[in-house]
Amino acid sequence: MHELAVCQALIDQVEQLALKEHAQQVLSIHLGIGPLSGVEARLLQQAFSIARAGGVAAEAELVIDSLPLQVSCDQCGQTTDALPARLLCGACGNWRTRLVSGDELQLQHVELIRQTADDLAEHETSMQQHERAN
Ligand SMILES: [Zn+2]
Repeated sequence: MHELAVCQALIDQVEQLALKEHAQQVLSIHLGIGPLSGVEARLLQQAFSIARAGGVAAEAELVIDSLPLQVSCDQCGQTTDALPARLLCGACGNWRTRLVSGDELQLQHVELIRQTADDLAEHETSMQQHERAN
């Protein structure tokens, strides 16, 4: 299953982040996927429950954010929403469009727990660091 390979790669990435941040546990993993990313959210959730077992993310929740599919038109210059099977400009109907977003599979945000006295403060720090990385 393609989704299982995607999840294993994702968990590898999160485990490296947890190691770097000295986190004991991963609370949640927020992933953005576009309609053309080639993965299905439902299958990804199933695969995640297998792939997370035994590691630092064993209790983690996978939060999937569906990203919009958008195209930019070569003719009228507008950026509009499009359908996966029909990448036409929503303003003028032109087919000469470029994909702006919709094929992403991106790790957006990870919530980590560190078992230290100033747990919460460090937790916030790691979240901010991650957001800056994007
Ligand atoms: Zn157009």
